Amino acid sequence: MDDRLRKELAAWLEFYRELGIEGLCYRQPEASGLPAGAAGSGPAITPVPPSAKPKTPAPDTRPLTSGTLSRPAPIRPPTPSLSLFEAPPPRQGPETLEQIQKDLGDCHRCKLAGGRKTIVFGEGDPRAALVFIGEGPGADEDEQGRPFVGRAGKLLNRMIEAVGMKREDVYICNVVKCRPPGNRTPEKDEIDTCSPFLLRQVLAIQPRLICCLGAPAMRTVLGIKEGIMKVRGQFFEYGTTKALVTVHPAYILRNPREEKILREDFEKIRLFLAAK
Ligand code: URA
Repeated sequence: MDDRLRKELAAWLEFYRELGIEGLCYRQPEASGLPAGAAGSGPAITPVPPSAKPKTPAPDTRPLTSGTLSRPAPIRPPTPSLSLFEAPPPRQGPETLEQIQKDLGDCHRCKLAGGRKTIVFGEGDPRAALVFIGEGPGADEDEQGRPFVGRAGKLLNRMIEAVGMKREDVYICNVVKCRPPGNRTPEKDEIDTCSPFLLRQVLAIQPRLICCLGAPAMRTVLGIKEGIMKVRGQFFEYGTTKALVTVHPAYILRNPREEKILREDFEKIRLFLAAK
């Protein structure tokens, strides 16, 4: 295999790995005339790379490297020219949340599994225009298997309603799906293990806007290393989707005088979604 081909292949494998797909197999095209990977052949989950997906290129998940707030480099595998893999596995439609949840299964991929009661996958409208991403389940969420059902969740619900939306109309999930012991911040290895599923959820939903609630979501989704107060209320590009960072509702519960921060940022969300 020549160098160029090797690099191309490595980039494709990295792209799939970022989506949580660890293994691929190649099958001969079938008699249907469809390219390899179509009509049920190939891997069960075969996301199309951004260049082949007209409506919604894959979101940009590379961390910022320079400490600036410019747009991170998008995940874009090279446009394959010619190779054994010349027909990147096409797919018949976006992966569904059910497929992702099934793939997640009774997850024991990281050490959080040992302390959790329930996996909190996420909930809401699978076609929501707005996705909220928090940090990780707390005690109430772990008990009920639903995100943001405790005190922070009640505040989030209030904010959602204050801008004329309903909780059922949005999608809510977290950077990690299992409760960290004592509600500590999730650790890097836990985030690295869990976040590909989050990325796949976002790809499946294709929202117009992602709202990162708190610093762990901001770092995981956008790779921003700056303090959250520097960037809150700003919109960032995330593929063709936008992302806005705001403070975590738990921060407001601890600092009630700062509630105006959430109100201001939620008003920006409202205006963004109202504009067609
Ligand atoms: N805090 C979070 O970040 N997520 C939840 O689901 C609940 C509280």
